[in-house]
Amino acid sequence: MKATLLVLCGLLACSWAKTVPVRTVTYDGDRVFRCNSKEMSKTELAKIFTHDAADMWAERADGTFDVRTLSQQERGADLEAILHSTAACNMVIANVEDYIASFEASARVAAEKVNSPAAWHDDYHTYAEIYAWYQELALEHPDVLHFESTIGESGEGRLQPAVHIAGGSRTNSSRHRIYFQCQIHAREWISGATCMYIVDYLVNSYHTDTRVRELLDTIEFVVVPFTNPDGYTYTWNGDRLWRKNRRINAGSTCRGVDQNRNYNSHWNEGGSSSNPCSETYHGPGPASEPETQNTQNYFRENFPIVGAIDWHSYSQLILRPWGYTSQDSPDESRLSSLGSTMRSLILSVHGMSYTSQKSIGLYPTSGTASDWFYDYEANEGNPFRAAGYTVELRDTGRYGFLLPPTEIIPTGQEMIPAVLEFAESLTRDPLTN
Ligand SMILES: [Zn+2]
Repeated sequence: MKATLLVLCGLLACSWAKTVPVRTVTYDGDRVFRCNSKEMSKTELAKIFTHDAADMWAERADGTFDVRTLSQQERGADLEAILHSTAACNMVIANVEDYIASFEASARVAAEKVNSPAAWHDDYHTYAEIYAWYQELALEHPDVLHFESTIGESGEGRLQPAVHIAGGSRTNSSRHRIYFQCQIHAREWISGATCMYIVDYLVNSYHTDTRVRELLDTIEFVVVPFTNPDGYTYTWNGDRLWRKNRRINAGSTCRGVDQNRNYNSHWNEGGSSSNPCSETYHGPGPASEPETQNTQNYFRENFPIVGAIDWHSYSQLILRPWGYTSQDSPDESRLSSLGSTMRSLILSVHGMSYTSQKSIGLYPTSGTASDWFYDYEANEGNPFRAAGYTVELRDTGRYGFLLPPTEIIPTGQEMIPAVLEFAESLTRDPLTN
């Protein structure tokens, strides 16, 4: 890793250590409420979950959820009236602008304090920096890491790269594969940072750790670091809390489609919105977005896939199918037991408690990536059926999307044993298609 940093230092003049986001969008007057769904009626819940001024930040296994409302002057007045009228909700952030400003102030202090050159995983990085980092890592480890410059372009023309991690002979194309995609939601920075930590760990442990070596000599990991490169870029140069991609929606001044409601699996069957201004706008049709098409196509090009994870934050959850229905999937007992094992392994590292549950949790979501990974269309032609999960990383709401960079390494560390178990278990005993 040192060599990589030195090479990058030469190329980028170590500028990443000082990169801080620039913001043009403010959140004055927006609030965040924490509600307990167990004390609310179905009607109240439906009103909140489907409201166009609601930005759902987190849902927890204990039945609580966090929701941001737009400032009263914008469109949030009637939503706020609902939230204020129920005893089940408390305001936890009185002004989202102050909340972001204090994160930015501490990020600036951290950036100034960082030793030069900083270790890569001590901070978050821009699209360009991350792209170059993967490229460089592949040059440094040609025996285990293969960099594909693009699997397709985003709506704004950015490349979506992919990396393949495998040891031994690569000529065996029938290797079982594990597919990861990262940063589908732009503001969930810990997602992309954790993917980098995992890739770095696997690549660097190949020659030193027998377990990793045996795994990588048998299977292949396929990782798509930027599922939503335009949205991610916009969180660095405009709006730190942006979630969707950057599509220009015809007939609306609001931009963006929620890519995690756009996959071709029970599209528009609940838990998504047809309003382009909503944070969960599902787009004009299933897989309408170039980024969705690119990742769906790439997934299908990489059979046989035995397992797939879509990495998100926050709430510390391990979510298995389905999101669109509360009915059990045909593999419920297996998926549930694998989720529980992963939960225990995560807990054993730093004592962080994650919850393993069905994706539907409090409320349905449809057209999600992880439902699609497991669904029929995705696995047409796959000799196995991919186990599809969503993992919601740290934390449980103290920092939420603004997780401090000091938590990147511990978050990555606690995922390693769970990722190894996920890969080994599904390789040993794949789901049948
Ligand atoms: Zn997310």
